[in-house]
Amino acid sequence: MIKLKGIAAAGGISIGPAYRVGKEEYIVPKQSIRPEEIPVQIQLFEEALIKTRREIIDLQKRIGFEMGQEEAQIFDAHLLVLEDRMLIEEVISRLKREQLNVAYIFQEVLKKYVDIFSKIEDEYLKERIADINDVGKRILRNLLGKQKKGLDDLRERVIVVAHDLSPSETAAMHKKNVAGFVTDVGGKTSHTAIMAKSLEIPAVVGVAEATFKIKAGDILIVDGILGEILVNPDEATLVEYRKEEEKLKGVTAQFFTVKDLPAVTLDGRAVEVNANIEFPDEVPAVKMHGGEGIGLYRTEFFYMNRKDLPTEEEHYQAYKYVAEEMNPHPVIIRTLDLGGDKFLSQFQIPHEMQPFLGWRAIRFCLARPDIFKLQLRAILRASVHGNLRLMYPMISGVEELRQANKILEEAKGELRQEGKPFEEDVQVGVMIEVPSAAMTADILAEEADFFSIGTNDLIQYSLAVDRANEKVAYLYEPAHPAVLRLIKNIIDSGHKANINVGMCGEMAGEPGFILLLLGLGLDEFSMPPQVIPEIKYIIRSVTSKQVEEIAKQAMTLSTGKEVEAFTAAKLKEILK
Ligand code: PEP
Ligand code: MG
Repeated sequence: MIKLKGIAAAGGISIGPAYRVGKEEYIVPKQSIRPEEIPVQIQLFEEALIKTRREIIDLQKRIGFEMGQEEAQIFDAHLLVLEDRMLIEEVISRLKREQLNVAYIFQEVLKKYVDIFSKIEDEYLKERIADINDVGKRILRNLLGKQKKGLDDLRERVIVVAHDLSPSETAAMHKKNVAGFVTDVGGKTSHTAIMAKSLEIPAVVGVAEATFKIKAGDILIVDGILGEILVNPDEATLVEYRKEEEKLKGVTAQFFTVKDLPAVTLDGRAVEVNANIEFPDEVPAVKMHGGEGIGLYRTEFFYMNRKDLPTEEEHYQAYKYVAEEMNPHPVIIRTLDLGGDKFLSQFQIPHEMQPFLGWRAIRFCLARPDIFKLQLRAILRASVHGNLRLMYPMISGVEELRQANKILEEAKGELRQEGKPFEEDVQVGVMIEVPSAAMTADILAEEADFFSIGTNDLIQYSLAVDRANEKVAYLYEPAHPAVLRLIKNIIDSGHKANINVGMCGEMAGEPGFILLLLGLGLDEFSMPPQVIPEIKYIIRSVTSKQVEEIAKQAMTLSTGKEVEAFTAAKLKEILK
C-alpha cells in the first residue's frame, strides 16, 4: 500500500478501482456513422492534425528556449509522423470503407503501426515507436476533445485519476458512475474542486504524480477530508475506512436533526443559510439539506458541454423552474462568469497569459452586450415566478456596475415594449471579489441592493495566489489578516448603507470560519448544499456575544495560521 498526499477538495470517503483518463489512456468508443457524416469525420481528423501540429511546434519552441536546440529537435520526428501520408490515407480510406467514427479508426491504425514497428529488428525504427505513440495520443486527444465521450461508458463506480480536469469535464461527471477523483494538479477553490463538492464526489487534487503512481484498476481509498489517497490498501485498512465512512454518516445524522430549523443563534440573531448551485436539478438536494434559498446560481455551467449557445427561452425555463421551486425564498442568479478557469467552446476566446486577470466575467459581458442582454432578459422574465435577484461577478469599481445596469435598463425597456412581464424592482447585487471593489465597498454600497463576498477570488487576488495552482496552495489562506480586514470593511460598508451582506465563496461553508464570520456581522452564508446542516448546527450553538468576542480577538492576530488555530479551538470548545 502506498499513501499519497494532496489537497482535500471535496469531503467524504470513497473506495473503488482507479479509472485513468488523460494523457496516456483513452476510452475510444466504436460508433457507426452514416455515409453523409464521412466528410465531417474527415474534417475532424484534419482539424486534429492541424491542432496537434500547432501544439508540437509550440512545445518545440518552449523546449528549445528552456533546454536547447538539440532537445527541441526530438520533435522533428514527431512532426514527420504527422506528415506521414500513408498513415493519413489509411485512416481516410478505412473511414470511408468501414463507416466508423474517425477516433476509433485512427486508434486501430495507430495500433497497427506500433505493432509493425515493434517487430522490426532495427534499433532506430524501434525508437520511432515512442514517437508514433506520443503523437498518436495527442491526435487522439484532440479528436476526442471534440467528441467528449470518455465518461459515458462507465459500467461500474470508479475513481477517476487524471493529470487535470477542467470544470466542464468535471461537470460532465454529473450522474455518471464516478465515486471520486484524484488529480495531479489543482487547488482547493478551483472550479473543478467546487464542482466536485456540488456533485458530492470526494476529491483530492494537487496529488503530485498521481498519474505516475496509480495504475488503471488499482484499488483506491480517496479521503477527501484529510486529502489522502491510499493505493491498494490491505484488508485491515479497508475495514478501518469502511468504519470511518459509517462514522461520518453518524455525525451527518446529528447535523441533520436541525437542517429544517432556522439559522438563529441561541440569543435569537437570525442569518440566512443558502445554497450554491450550478445546475437547476440540484434544487432537490438544496431542499433535502435544508437550504433556505439559493445564494449563488453559477449560470455559466449552463453554457458548458454543448455546441450551441443557450437561447433566451432555455435560460428563461431554467430560471423559472428554480424560482418556482424555491419560492418564496430568494434565488440569486449570477450572470455569466466566463473566463479564468472556465472556458466555453462556443466562444473563441484568445489564449491569455493570465486568464484570471483577463477578459473574464463582467468584462466579457460588457464587451458582448448581445450575449449579456439575452441572459438579463431571461432573468427579468423569470423574476415574476418567484423571488429572483441578480448579481454581477467580478465588479472592480462602480463604473462597471453602472454600465451593467445600463444594459439591464435596456433589457427592461425592450420587455416593456414587447409587453412581457417582469419584476420592476428586481434586486441587483454585486459580488465583491476583487480587492478594488472591497476597498471601495462604501461607494458600491450606494448603488447596489446587496453584496455577496466571493472569497474564492478575493483571496486569490488579494494574496496574489492562483486559486487553482497546487504549488502555491500553502499561501492560499482565507483567514489571512489582509483578507479578514477586507471582509470586515465590506460588511461594515454594506451595513452603513443598510444593505445585506452575504458570502458565497467556499469560506462561507467552512465550519472553522463560521463563528468568525458571524462575529464580523455577515448576514447571509451561501455554500454547497451538503454542508448546510452542519453550518446551521454551528450557528444554533452560539450566542452573538460569544461570536463577537471571537471576531474581536481574531482580528488582533498576526497570521492566517494563528487565526485558523484560534477559531478551530473555539469551535471545538463550543461543540463539545
Ligand atoms: C468566488 O469567487 O468566491 C465565487 C463564489 O465565485 P466563483 O468561485 O464562481 O469564482
Ligand atoms: Mg468568483
